[in-house]
Amino acid sequence: MVRAVVVGAGGRMGRRIVQTVLETSGIALVGAVEAEDHPAIGKDVGDFLGCGKQGVVVDSDINRGVDKSDVLIDFTTPQVALRSLEIGVKRRLAVVIGTTGFSPGEMERGRALALKTRCVMAPNMSVGVNVMFKIVAEIADVLGADYDVEIVEAHHRLKKDAPSGTAIRLGETIAGTLGQDLQRVGVWGRKGLIGERTSTEIGMSVVRAGDIVGDHTVIFGGVGERLEVTHRAHSRDNFARGAVRAALWVVGQPEGFYDMQDVLGLRAKGNAR
Ligand code: NAD
Repeated sequence: MVRAVVVGAGGRMGRRIVQTVLETSGIALVGAVEAEDHPAIGKDVGDFLGCGKQGVVVDSDINRGVDKSDVLIDFTTPQVALRSLEIGVKRRLAVVIGTTGFSPGEMERGRALALKTRCVMAPNMSVGVNVMFKIVAEIADVLGADYDVEIVEAHHRLKKDAPSGTAIRLGETIAGTLGQDLQRVGVWGRKGLIGERTSTEIGMSVVRAGDIVGDHTVIFGGVGERLEVTHRAHSRDNFARGAVRAALWVVGQPEGFYDMQDVLGLRAKGNAR
């Protein structure tokens, strides 16, 4: 039995992950961590979620409870996720990070820590989006630089980072396939008299509205036609199921930094992270 601690257990994603852990065989919930001012602190996580007592009290101290665990699942903020990784390294625990919005410096620190433990870090844990990462690379490879690439993402009004980690990963994947660097060719929104589009740029557009769970479209625009690939998440359950699948997978892996392409067996040979 894999013993899991969910960090950010009272958040939109955390609640779904707790519920999914409780419903999945082979994994047990042994800890639930939240910010010290969160209303769930001190309550049984099952009472807080309305699914009956589970014998796990929501705690603000991540150090309590990790002794009996095998894996930390973190959907919080970059600062908290880095702390989860530090604890994972110190306590030799596997770590699943779904948190997004890392600055380049935080990402570098995260990667260095992740390599010292067994870690799956992925901006999107859904099967559909991970298939999308794979096919947009194949499309970009076939269409080449003649087609303009634009990425449009839409999320709920409460999302804190923009563009989404998924949109950035789509851009990085396509830029990498075309021999470009997203940091150089990415255009992060447009306004005013900006002149003609360059052929190499990858445009990023962001929508924030209502309760949209997460939509991503990649447009490959040619002359006389365009090809669009769209993924729409209807609920957070697919992300939660992916996170639990990653937790069950990563505990059996050697030390290393993995993503959902590894968990789902989608990584092309020789295409290391
Ligand atoms: P949220 O704000 O609802 O949840 C975050 C939770 O973290 C909150 O409950 C907050 O109280 C808690 N938290 C803050 N400080 C903490 C601390 N010190 N210790 C423990 N918990 C703490 O946000 P959300 O919508 O659940 O998203 C969380 C993250 O997951 C975001 O970065 C989001 O982009 C990402 N996300 C990833 C995927 C994926 O598939 N990888 C899917 C959806 C969301």
